[in-house]
Amino acid sequence: MTEEIFSTDAYARTCEATVVAASEEGVILDRTVFYARGGGQPGDTGILRWDGGEVRVADTVKHGGEVVHVVEGQAPAVDSRVSAEIDWGRRYTLMRTHTALHCLSGVVFTGYGAKVTGGNMEPGVARMDFELDSISVEFGREVEEALNARLAEDRPVHAGFLPRAEALSDPDLIRTKVNLIPGSVDPIRVIEIEGIDKQADGGTHVRSTGEVGHVRVVKTESKGKANKRMRIELAEP
Ligand SMILES: [Zn+2]
Repeated sequence: MTEEIFSTDAYARTCEATVVAASEEGVILDRTVFYARGGGQPGDTGILRWDGGEVRVADTVKHGGEVVHVVEGQAPAVDSRVSAEIDWGRRYTLMRTHTALHCLSGVVFTGYGAKVTGGNMEPGVARMDFELDSISVEFGREVEEALNARLAEDRPVHAGFLPRAEALSDPDLIRTKVNLIPGSVDPIRVIEIEGIDKQADGGTHVRSTGEVGHVRVVKTESKGKANKRMRIELAEP
């Protein structure tokens, strides 16, 4: 199994690694800073360099539990040493976007009791669906104001691991359906934004909400009964 450096250090941009497997499908390394697409967060892009060559990584995905670097061109040879580097600007924007979404989820639950039904993100833009009977432009503005006030408090964001039994009895994690995580996953990775939100999550986040900056709610729309969508956008820092 690949050592997933991004899960304990989201700010690591590069690492040295050894090629474990390589095919037209992609490259598997013994350790990596590349986040594999999942939980609404896109996979990382970047570059693999080695003695005498380099190749672009167009995407990173999970295949059978393995982190696969999808390359555009000739893959490095098995057993060779490579230096792996992510496109940091894109990833950092995704970290800010992902943390913004968790804060949005916390703000809407705390203020209105509505749970999240889905979500997705691209760098700087995201959508989140809520179990709400109605939604309006005014509601969007109200949430935007509350969200930015909370972000401005510069709350610390903690990424940690909890034993499965402990996670399954945590009320915050129960609310976010921790029980749906496959039984083999133990410990469970948890992202806690102090005083705002706590959920099981595999993604990469910024260290504190101040790094997210200002967020705009750009659209509110109905996606059916008890399913309302909010689109957000990060303001440029
Ligand atoms: Zn998440």
